[in-house]
Amino acid sequence: MNYQALYRTFRSQRFDEIVGQRAVSITLKQAILQEKVSHAYLFTGPRGTGKTSVARIFAKALNCPNLQNGEPCNKCEMCIAITKGRLEDVLEIDAASNNGVDEIRNLRDTVKYPPVLATYKVYIIDEVHMLSTSAFNALLKTLEEPPAKVIFILATTEVHKVLPTIVSRTQRFDFKRIGIEDIVQHLKDILPKINIKFEEEALYIIARAAEGGMRDALSILDQAVSFIEDTLTSEDAMMITGSLTKDMMDQYMLAIYEKKVEAALEILDEIFSQGKEVRRFLEDMILYNRDLLMYKHAAQLVSKTRGILTDTFKKLATELSFENIYAYIKFFNEAQQEIRLSNLASVYLEIVTVKLATYSQASSVVQPEQGDHKDLEFLREELNQLKKVITDLQKGKNASSEDRLINTISNPNPSKNAYKNPTQQIHQVLLSATKAHLTTLKEVWPDFLASLDARCKAMMKASKPVAASDTQMVVAYDYDILALKASQDETLKQVVSCNLSKMIDFAPELIIVTSSKWPKLRQTFIEENREKLQLDKTQMTQKNVFKEYEDAEFVEKAVQLFGKDMVKVIE
Ligand SMILES: [Zn+2]
Repeated sequence: MNYQALYRTFRSQRFDEIVGQRAVSITLKQAILQEKVSHAYLFTGPRGTGKTSVARIFAKALNCPNLQNGEPCNKCEMCIAITKGRLEDVLEIDAASNNGVDEIRNLRDTVKYPPVLATYKVYIIDEVHMLSTSAFNALLKTLEEPPAKVIFILATTEVHKVLPTIVSRTQRFDFKRIGIEDIVQHLKDILPKINIKFEEEALYIIARAAEGGMRDALSILDQAVSFIEDTLTSEDAMMITGSLTKDMMDQYMLAIYEKKVEAALEILDEIFSQGKEVRRFLEDMILYNRDLLMYKHAAQLVSKTRGILTDTFKKLATELSFENIYAYIKFFNEAQQEIRLSNLASVYLEIVTVKLATYSQASSVVQPEQGDHKDLEFLREELNQLKKVITDLQKGKNASSEDRLINTISNPNPSKNAYKNPTQQIHQVLLSATKAHLTTLKEVWPDFLASLDARCKAMMKASKPVAASDTQMVVAYDYDILALKASQDETLKQVVSCNLSKMIDFAPELIIVTSSKWPKLRQTFIEENREKLQLDKTQMTQKNVFKEYEDAEFVEKAVQLFGKDMVKVIE
């Protein structure tokens, strides 16, 4: 037997089998019973919500000679021919694949002929918003003078792209996203028919991932059943949907709860290295914390949606306060809003993770050591600034200006704990730096980042080499806070030199600069260098100053360092 996708096999064949679109089904059934059929319909709504299924059922109900209370019989030749798509009077056009004018022109030519076998000729045009303008106009002409016994059903996921002149000539039905309970129930009906047992939570995971689309839910189920033996577990469902496995969620939240920042960052990195999306991660974490809250209120409610409860989950639910869980949810929720327009989503999440892992510490009764406390204050200041900038960006204030973001983050109000760029040390590097060394470093940088463990990678991710000699390199950090942390991290420095030495023939020492201060530092170096080279100041005032300047050793040096495009000579 040929394998058929579940969504085809279990496609609804009657109005009362349609899931989650009761209003639409009842209205259409009534129209048929009362013989008040309009000549054009517009079905709008998200994908996989039943638009084409309803269109086909409607086409059958219009033509079935054995109509049963508005439902097609699905047994007569007419019904069967329509179900199989071989009745020439019922035509399906997928505008997404046939957006040419020809298809519609052809339709215009044939539309005037009466139906051959059926009572009504039905044209189902899916994704109608994809039609080209001229095809749209051709369709409009047809709709303006509809021939008798012809019915158009136009379906679209993007109704705002359909010309108003077309919308106004149709009867419009809005298909809603299908509710999670409805999807779960439908999956429950299907699974015994294909001899698959299931954990109830698995169905909830699939239903949530499908985001209100039954076709998506069935596609996910299809993928899941293709590799399982006979029972669909929640782990299977999570794997397929890209949801986090329960184990990872437990580990992450436990690390947060136990204030193990490094462990939390490592788990985060592992989660993303498995290809999880940031957006989905946040969704899962919000649901996880919601479950924690529910469990504290009424444990029996959670076992229903969450399946088997792990010991870690129970521990967290018992030991975390309501206030704490609410705060976590708030953090994740804010992050969800803030990463939407950010291309620094993963970096932002790392910072949120640090924030979460230090949250309870800040509010705990035990006063942290003075040093830690200052650190925390500094961290909080940084985070508030980051948050503010991201909010600004979202409001559309100069949305593309990542520079501004970086500058604002790296230029907080002068703080005692802010990173101080080691100017003299950087200048020392620059004196012996060469373009060749820098190029070599840049080439291996992606591989180098990949070679680091989670913690080091988190520290190095938002950094790039800007100058290098055979013994040292200057690396610019986008975030002040990371620059500070990295500069204090001796292990990191060792790992960096060691890993690099395996890829290149030198082992440069890590010298850190903040991206915002780097241009200024570089310029100061060039200026100071000019003096060191004892350039004759009188030459500078001559008319050919530019040429002299260009020939000067320090310019050569600058070009050697940064490349010609980076060096701009100012009189
Ligand atoms: Zn029939």
